[in-house]
Amino acid sequence: MATQHPFDLLDVERELNAEQKAIQAVTRQYVNDRIKPNIAHWYETTEIPVRELARELGEIGLLGMHLDGYGCAGTDATSYGLACMELEAGDSGLRSLVSVQGSLAMFAIHAYGSEETKSEWLPKMATGEAIGCFGLTEADHGSNPAGMITTAKKVGGDWIINGSKMWITNGNVADVAIVWARTDEGVRGFCVPTSTPGFSANLIKHKLSLRASMTAELVFENMRVPDSSRLPGATSLRAPLTCLAEARFGIIFGAVGAARDCLESSLAYASTREQFEGPISRHQITQEKFAKMATRLNTAALLALHLGKIKDEHKITPQQISMGKFNNVQGAIEIAREARSILGAAGITTEYPIFRHMTNLESVLTYEGTHEIHALVIGEALTGIAAFR
Ligand SMILES: Cc1cc2nc3c(=O)[nH]c(=O)nc-3n(C[C@H](O)[C@H](O)[C@H](O)COP(=O)(O)OP(=O)(O)OC[C@H]3O[C@@H](n4cnc5c(N)ncnc54)[C@H](O)[C@@H]3O)c2cc1C
Repeated sequence: MATQHPFDLLDVERELNAEQKAIQAVTRQYVNDRIKPNIAHWYETTEIPVRELARELGEIGLLGMHLDGYGCAGTDATSYGLACMELEAGDSGLRSLVSVQGSLAMFAIHAYGSEETKSEWLPKMATGEAIGCFGLTEADHGSNPAGMITTAKKVGGDWIINGSKMWITNGNVADVAIVWARTDEGVRGFCVPTSTPGFSANLIKHKLSLRASMTAELVFENMRVPDSSRLPGATSLRAPLTCLAEARFGIIFGAVGAARDCLESSLAYASTREQFEGPISRHQITQEKFAKMATRLNTAALLALHLGKIKDEHKITPQQISMGKFNNVQGAIEIAREARSILGAAGITTEYPIFRHMTNLESVLTYEGTHEIHALVIGEALTGIAAFR
């Protein structure tokens, strides 16, 4: 009997328009041709050609693609989400590169930067000529960034920044860093070229997750920057939190891509792997696993597309984004674990993508607001009680 693609079961893509489908197809082609043949090697060696990839992603138009002007493609939010889905089907590290560049660093400049900063950085970030990073988290202040101790002190027309940031994606390869610091007036953001004296970055080694993505500590020692590097529109912690909401939106779709790749891999494997004189896909327990995975995957995809529509109407709320990440990342992890079991021993190697996705998704569960913090956001919406403290 003919088989159906998991997404065909609920006709998930029925509402996509031609442009959205085209963007998804181009991204999928790039991932199939360029990423899938190389990703296992990059993951094992942790030597990922970030600069080369950034240029290629820029050429396809995926960097800052949902922003308007300054060389950005200006697509709708759903198209951006679909691109994230395809990128993360390749690897969460690739989607992280695009998320951090477009939704965190470029979005911060686009939303809060001066005209001068926007014109200077956005066009070359859109092409991938310049790479950006976003420094909010500190070693002792992760879930609660309001406690940050990095300071920026006004000295004449300049600012002197001291402190450090931890777990910063692409921090060691970036040309420009968005640095969030405490000032006498509250939290402010600065757009800092990484060549600025006093700036240094240390690569974080020994990661067992997101190995095909660079993560670094940023250190600022009496780093002097002019007032023009400040993002004038960013006047409180609300500014970086708004950037994070943008990136989380991409994760809602991205997690679906990683999960889809796990399901597809396990389906392909089970149809050719034979035990007890027949393919393992004929066993009822295996089929029940597929049924659960496909249902979880379809509902996650529909949730992502639903939220995409709301975002395209500019009506999305932080609570809705929290619910999307809360559901879809947890669902993707469950799918990855189930898919891995279908591959038996073969499932623990990098020959198949599943274990790689599974370990990546552990980081995705934690960054951009942990699973627990998103639960509390939803809990607060339901009860009216903020349970963060
Ligand atoms: C690979 C990777 C890349 C990253 N990239 C970036 C980046 O580019 N820029 C950046 O700024 N940050 C980045 N981060 C940091 C990320 O955002 C933080 O790791 C995250 O916010 C959690 O902070 P933490 O790790 O310090 O955990 P903690 O805040 O110490 O949390 C530990 C545990 O306690 C729980 N917890 C904390 N508070 C509460 C509470 N009130 N109620 C219930 N549970 C609670 C958490 O949910 C979690 O389970 C990255 C992280 C990773 C792993």
